[in-house]
This record gives sequence, structure tokens and C-alpha cells, in this order.
Amino acid sequence: MERALTFDVVRRFPRGPVVSARASWPLGSAPVTVLFGPSGAGKTTVLRALAGLVRPDAGEIVFDGETWFDADRGTFVPPQARGVGLLFQEYALFPHLSVAANVGFGLHRLPRAQREARVVELAERLGLSDLLRRRPGDLSGGQRQRVALARALAPRPRLLLLDEPLSALDAPTREALRGELRQFLERSGVPAVVVTHDRTEALALGDRLVVLVDGTVRQIGSVPEVFSAPVDAEVARVVGTENVFPSRLVRRADGLLVVRAGAAELVAIDPGGVEDEAYACVRAEDVVLEPPGGHESSAQNRLAGTVVARRDEGPLVRITVDCGVKLVALVTRASAERMGLAAGRPIAAVVKAPSVRIVPRRA
Ligand code: ADP
Ligand code: MG
Repeated sequence: MERALTFDVVRRFPRGPVVSARASWPLGSAPVTVLFGPSGAGKTTVLRALAGLVRPDAGEIVFDGETWFDADRGTFVPPQARGVGLLFQEYALFPHLSVAANVGFGLHRLPRAQREARVVELAERLGLSDLLRRRPGDLSGGQRQRVALARALAPRPRLLLLDEPLSALDAPTREALRGELRQFLERSGVPAVVVTHDRTEALALGDRLVVLVDGTVRQIGSVPEVFSAPVDAEVARVVGTENVFPSRLVRRADGLLVVRAGAAELVAIDPGGVEDEAYACVRAEDVVLEPPGGHESSAQNRLAGTVVARRDEGPLVRITVDCGVKLVALVTRASAERMGLAAGRPIAAVVKAPSVRIVPRRA
């Protein structure tokens, strides 16, 4: 049997909403699963149920063949017996304890020498070696985050659960740490579930996306799948960006990047931090469709292609153009009629460089 995490969590809040979320995914490949959705969608509730900090009203949770919760049978494995590592939004470090004591907090069952060795090992991996005697209050936000990660990983958890791990940081630190966190999660070898409401974070951190809206799971898929092919209008609204292409850096010049996405090359503003792999993101409303043929404009990207699909959505029409990549454009119905946009029509897709957003993706 393939190793998997499976849950069906029902939690009713008195005078509040109902969270009724079910999902299942394999644990072997794709280490980072992002629970993504707007604020209030039920992400934290699901994460806390997985951790055993919330007892659902109904349903079950099975991790790698082990039942952690089964409402019908009255099974409830307490948090400490699940072998999960937790990292909360505000990190919840113990302010009166040193960094070393915080990192070693979950290791009280180990003999002292082993505990100390494990703390030293994690401090080295997370760049905390010089900070072990400090208190959390004397650390930067990024350092506190690394302490919280070290503490979560110290007892060798089987599953890491992170709730908005970057939200306590200021924007520049957050951006700097996104890639670092991704790299770290991948190297840790521990499957992780990361909660975020932030699209860029979901793109930068996740392999797999689980989209939660109004307490239910609406879609599960790879990051580009969910962003590029949302199952319904609500998921589309939540993910916001229709075109998300796995890309590789081709070259840099004058503050611009050229990336290759499928068989197309896209010019974008260089956000910094791109090494090789990245996602190139374009909103469908930022794609202009023009008749093919020569045409001078200020736009950096002019991709010749063919319309492969058309979907009418009230006053708007969603056009998919194959121009080396499948690019989705949102145009008005009037424009679509005027240009005769239908499958087979040759067309040029035009996108300004600033409309191509690059999210670095460090492997
Ligand atoms: P998210 O983490 O996606 O923002 P939460 O899981 O925290 O969402 O909350 C889901 C919904 O449940 C929200 O509408 C929230 O107000 C509600 N909720 C969460 N905890 C409680 C609680 N203890 N009592 C009542 N309602 C709650
Ligand atoms: Mg939350």
C-alpha cells in the first residue's frame, strides 16, 4: 500500500461555520503540501486537527496506515503520540528559555548527552550555532523562525505542520526566507503541510496544493495544475492567476530576465533570487490578443499562436492560446466577436514584461 495521509475532518463551531474537509495524498513524493485558501477557510482548523490539538466532531485521520482519529470507533491519538512537528504563526517560543533549551524542548526523554548533540546538530543545519545562549527576545524575526523550525524538527517528527510560517516576518525578510524555507523543507526529508493564504508563498513553497474555500476542499493538484486549471470560478478567484508556467532562466539583461516556459520565451522584470527554476505567472486579464503579423508596440512579449479553446463567461470570454505554452487570456465578448476568436484562429498574444511575475523556485 502506498504511504498516504488521508483525512475527513468535520468540525462544527457553535454559532459559527462548519469545517468539513477531506483529502488524501501520497507521502512519498512531493514533500511539501500547501493548504491554501482565504482567511477563515478552515486551514488552521484542519492543521490543528492533524496535530491532535483539535478533536473533530466527526470523520477520521489516517497517517501512513496508522489511525490517529476515528470518530465512529472513538479513536483519538494524543498530539505527543503522533510524532508531528509544529510551527505556529507566532512561533510560540518560550521567552524565558535560551535558544538551546527551546530547540531541545521536545527531547526531554533523551539522555542529556544525546539531547545536547541533537541540539548542536540542528543548530548547525539552521545556522543557529552562535545563538544558542540567547533568548528569543534577542533574535530577529528570521532567526526566531529558524529556532521554531529547529524545535519542530528536533524530535525527528514524521510529519511537519506549519501554520503561516512566514507571516510574522516583515516583507523583505519574508521574501528572503521563502526560498530558504523551501530548500530546508525539501532537505529535511520529512513530509510537510504548510498553511498559507499567500499566493506567492503557495507557489514558492508547495509541490502540491490543497485549496480550501468555506471549510471544504475544492481542489487538489500540483501547483501549476491548480493555478492554471482551477476546477471552478471560486477556486479561480482564490488562486487569482490563470497562467503559471514552470520556467527556466535563459539569460539576464538590463534588469530583465528571459525565461523559457514550454517552447516560449518570456521577458520579465528580474525580481532577484532566481537561480535556475522559477514560475512565470501572468494574469489572464493582462494578456492582449491581436491579429498576427508584424506590429510595433512597447510590449516585450509578442507570442504568435493559435486559439485552442474558448469559454464564454457572461460578459467575458476566456481564450486559450497555444503559443509555445498554453496561455489563457480574458477578453470582453465584444472583442472576441469582433476578432472572430474561435478554435483554430491564428493570433498573437501580447504581454508586457511587468505583467510577467517571476516566483523563484529553488530546488
Ligand atoms: P483559516 O486558518 O483558514 O483562516 P480557521 O480554521 O482559523 O480558518 O477558521 C475557520 C472558520 O472557523 C472561521 O470562520 C473562524 O471564524 C471559525 N472558527 C475558528 N475557530 C473557532 C472557534 N474556536 N469558535 C468559533 N469559530 C471558530
Ligand atoms: Mg489560520
